[in-house]
Amino acid sequence: MSAKDERVGLAHGAGGRAMRELITSIFLEGVTDPEALALDDGAAIPFGDRFLVITTDAHVVAPAFFPGGDIGRLSVCGVVNDLAMMGACDVVALTSSVIVEEGYPVESLRRISASMQEACGEASARILTGDTKVMSRGEIDGIVLSTSGIGVTHRVVRDSGLRPGDAIVVTGTIGDHGLAVLGARHALGLEGDLRSDVAPLNGLVRAALAAGGEAVHAMKDPTRGGVTSALSEMAEKAGVAIVLEERTLPMSAPARAAAELLGIDPLAVANEGKALIGVHPDALELVLAALRAHPLGRAAACIGRVAAPASSSDRGSVSVDTGFGTRRLFERDGAPLPRIC
Ligand code: MG
Repeated sequence: MSAKDERVGLAHGAGGRAMRELITSIFLEGVTDPEALALDDGAAIPFGDRFLVITTDAHVVAPAFFPGGDIGRLSVCGVVNDLAMMGACDVVALTSSVIVEEGYPVESLRRISASMQEACGEASARILTGDTKVMSRGEIDGIVLSTSGIGVTHRVVRDSGLRPGDAIVVTGTIGDHGLAVLGARHALGLEGDLRSDVAPLNGLVRAALAAGGEAVHAMKDPTRGGVTSALSEMAEKAGVAIVLEERTLPMSAPARAAAELLGIDPLAVANEGKALIGVHPDALELVLAALRAHPLGRAAACIGRVAAPASSSDRGSVSVDTGFGTRRLFERDGAPLPRIC
């Protein structure tokens, strides 16, 4: 972002390289605080013998109601999950700002609020303060929710902590959220089978951390940009290479069918109820067993390995072994899927 006449594009909100460049060149200009520069799922602040973790998220998903959830559920789960990815599975409090368009149905607001409360119940979280703004008709498309959260943890887990030899675990099937939202947006008639995975992961992650302890080296949730973006960021930060095994990637049959129909790579599609966990191989089976014993982790699988980079161009790479060869995965900034979360 250098030229004076440059404008923000949809790719700048897609969760990939363009977004990180925008953040780095505009919002982090002159910032020297390493905690802010870490660009992790949240920020950790030492507090007594523990850490306070804070995170914030805005939600603009369209349509606001989709199979498996709605913008309200998403706004709670998104924040709870970013806290959990830092190791903060105990949520102290959430805040909620609601910006709504004049003429918006009050009944829809009631449904959204009810599903926020339901998600809070599942996450043992509570919204303690908030704000409400109304904009004139046409100045905003329906509703935007902005949610922040505070959690606590004794040990902070970073998305930069991968080490060569680590196993990469995904806690369940991939692609469901983004494909369900796209299916609903374009009325593709997939809704019967295909549902968003949006769910609070703090209980699941607590179980994984209890089983794996210090062997859990890194975590990140594959939201915008999907598994490809999340792993690219993790590999880049750790200076490692990641190789996935295609046959091990868990996918639901409806998501697989929808991805084929839409011609979309499921690895690049947003998830809202999944975590990627880098774990020392000695603790892999323990962590997998703990995940699979939890209702949200039944399809958990080891999907790849972390390697030391073979060359400088290999640093930060993510590739997938298809069984016939290895293909490198690249974050696609040219074809964003806007308003998926
Ligand atoms: Mg995240």
